[in-house]
Amino acid sequence: MQHTVSPVGIVRSCFKEKFAIPRQPHLAPAARGVLELLPPFDQGDAVEGLEQVSHVWLLFLFHQALEDKPRLKVRPPRLGGNKSMGVFATRATHRPNGIGQSVVRLDGVEPKRLLLSGIDLLDGTPVLDIKPYVPYADSVPSATNQMAGTAPESIAVQWHESALPQAHEHGLRLGEPLVALIEQCLAQDPRPAYQIPPPERVYGVKFWDVQVRWQYPQPDVIRVLEVVREA
Ligand code: SAM
Repeated sequence: MQHTVSPVGIVRSCFKEKFAIPRQPHLAPAARGVLELLPPFDQGDAVEGLEQVSHVWLLFLFHQALEDKPRLKVRPPRLGGNKSMGVFATRATHRPNGIGQSVVRLDGVEPKRLLLSGIDLLDGTPVLDIKPYVPYADSVPSATNQMAGTAPESIAVQWHESALPQAHEHGLRLGEPLVALIEQCLAQDPRPAYQIPPPERVYGVKFWDVQVRWQYPQPDVIRVLEVVREA
């Protein structure tokens, strides 16, 4: 059977590249974005009643990870990237049909757009469907997962003395909780699990319109070096 799907909206996100996006939603509550609805869903009718829910499921396309040939095994970063697992045992981005799913906080409902936070979605992600989170059915307190039972451990994030005021300033300009976003995302330690970088190596990522650069002065400590605007 073949069936065509088309997006109901596109996410405008704080995350401009895949690197340093948390591996699941909620890990960075300060990660915000807007889901812009596409016609014919942008008239208000399609979202009527949605203001009654705090969270929504988003079904979306991993549009930057689509592949022609399906993989049966993947190497999830959570397992250090060196152990392979059946694709259906993981939440890897490379998967049949390229469909992702995230429960995210719904901060606002407008006729043409939804305001979201706690997202793990790249800017430009096409959303295929939106469903209200139903606590009694979707939350399973007795659920177990031996591979990923708890959130990944976070690491310490320190600031170079000039970097923190830069982040505050750009946060004010953007009207976004930028300091919290940087701290929450970097605390997830974006580097590949097996990589122990030399202390002088500089990493960087773009959040909103700012470039954030950091080093690892010790293997389990991040120091943010600078937060600068980039076109
Ligand atoms: N919560 C979703 C799920 O379980 O289906 C996504 C989990 S996946 C492990 C999360 C990663 O997907 C993020 O760290 C980011 O690098 C990547 N990602 C997010 N949006 C993407 C997109 N549109 N295309 C490709 N990769 C994306």
